[in-house]
Amino acid sequence: MGNGARRDGDLYVGWRYNRQVTISREIPEDARIYVAGHRGLVGSAVLRRLAAGGFRNLLTAGRDELDLRDQAAVDRWFDVHRPEYVYLVAGTVGGIWANSQRPAEFIYDNLMIHATVVHAAWRTGATKLLYLGSSCIYPREAPQPMAEDALLTGPLEPTNEPYAVAKIAGIKLCQAYRRQYGCDFISAMPTNLYGPGDNFDLESSHVLPAMIRKFHEARTRGDRAVTLWGTGAPRREFLHADDLADACLFLMREYEGDEHINVGTGEDLPIRSLAELVRDVVAPELAIEWDATKPDGSPRKLLDVSKLRDLGWRHQVDIGHGIASTYRWFVRELASGGVRGVRAAEPVPTSI
Ligand code: NDP
Repeated sequence: MGNGARRDGDLYVGWRYNRQVTISREIPEDARIYVAGHRGLVGSAVLRRLAAGGFRNLLTAGRDELDLRDQAAVDRWFDVHRPEYVYLVAGTVGGIWANSQRPAEFIYDNLMIHATVVHAAWRTGATKLLYLGSSCIYPREAPQPMAEDALLTGPLEPTNEPYAVAKIAGIKLCQAYRRQYGCDFISAMPTNLYGPGDNFDLESSHVLPAMIRKFHEARTRGDRAVTLWGTGAPRREFLHADDLADACLFLMREYEGDEHINVGTGEDLPIRSLAELVRDVVAPELAIEWDATKPDGSPRKLLDVSKLRDLGWRHQVDIGHGIASTYRWFVRELASGGVRGVRAAEPVPTSI
């Protein structure tokens, strides 16, 4: 069945528009499941979660094999592998610095990746697709916590606007293919993520991996203090990638609706407290200094996760434990040269 017609006729409920719909779909353990972006922070966590769930027909293709910006190549790959379930978790991703330096890549790559995969999934009649956006889709001044209906109600944060526009386009793609072709394509918007497999390159990483690396390097050099940007006052929310992966599988089974769904913990903390948590795990003896001449960003960014909670999902990983296990992973992988964004082998502390 091509052109978006659904294979699982018994579950097909037709064109769904602007409604939140819950289902309970058992995904067969031998279903062909494609994880686009499987080497990344999220993709590797999704693979781990699916493998732990007994799914044994997992499809992957590295960037070297398949450039997801290339529609013809993506079409060929889908024609050969015909995935039934698609986790669209690939993209060009990074923190404020990377967004400000490479805005063209952030908008072009993400627009293309979203469009090629969604289009190919429709063309080959995939049963279901989950697209991962980001909480940066919401207006800079959105009321806190940010509910799904805050989308497109005001101007975006200018520092990552090109990326955010591509992420919003991903939501609209899923909705448009649902409306025109009846495709069961859903969207999830996660908050800030962290965990094993993260990017630790200080020029493109997010705040939490950057802190882990900075404290680790300061400890290794025997520094007395670490200087961090801003005042430490802004509040942010963090979700472990394993929790996100679990939420993705949950939504794949339980949600079939037009509206995107926020995925987070619903809890935030000041960056200052986050820094103290990281410091206490990595190097409790270090002092923290704040460079208040550097920008703080928005005072608060917290997702309203009541829709996801109403569906029945809640996060499991406490931030303190998540940071500790991520740091253990970081130290282990450093020793074998497996940390993304860290070039040379570095001295590794003997105890953590
Ligand atoms: P990563 O950078 O860790 O992983 C991205 C993955 O996408 C990598 O596997 C990368 O391949 C792949 N990829 C990128 N470009 C291409 C391409 N042209 N062709 C094929 N593969 C490509 O990102 P995350 O796992 O952190 O992010 C995944 C998703 O989650 C993204 O959509 C992001 O917007 C979203 N998200 C992430 C957040 C975070 O804090 N990290 C927060 C909110 C949303 P390769 O390994 O070969 O480079």
